[in-house]
Amino acid sequence: MSDCIFCKIIEGSIPSKKVLENDDIIAFHDINPAAPVHVLVVPKVHIESLEALNEQNIDVVVKIHQAILQVAKIMKINSKGYRVIANCGKEGGQTVPHLHYHVLGGTCLNEKLI
Ligand code: 5GP
Ligand code: ZN
Repeated sequence: MSDCIFCKIIEGSIPSKKVLENDDIIAFHDINPAAPVHVLVVPKVHIESLEALNEQNIDVVVKIHQAILQVAKIMKINSKGYRVIANCGKEGGQTVPHLHYHVLGGTCLNEKLI
C-alpha cells in the first residue's frame, strides 16, 4: 500500500527505531510513547486491521505473537510484565490502518479499560 505509513516504515522510506526484524515482522519504537517501553509489532504484509484477518492470512498472528515474546525479552520486560493492545477500527481507536500490536511496559500500568 503506497500511502500506508507502516508500509513505508517496512520498506525503509520512513525511518524507525527498530527493535526486531525478520521475514514476516518488524517491531519498532512508537513515535509517541505512552509508557517507558512502547513498541509496535507489525506484520510486513499489509493487513488493514484485525477485521481483515481471514483463513488465508491468519498464520501471521502466530508470527506476531512469537515476535511479541522476543520484543518483551529484548526490552527486558518479560519477567516484570507488560500489556499488549491491538486497536481495531474507528471506535477501537485505530489511527493507522495497518494491523499492529502495541507492547507497553517498563512501569506499573494502572489505567485499565477491562
Ligand atoms: P493506533 O492508534 O492505530 O492503535 O496506533 C498507531 C500508533 O502508531 C500510535 O501510537 C502512533 O504514535 C504511532 N505512529 C504513527 N506514526 C508513526 C511513525 O511514523 N513512526 C512511529 N514509530 N510510530 C508512529
Ligand atoms: Zn501498510
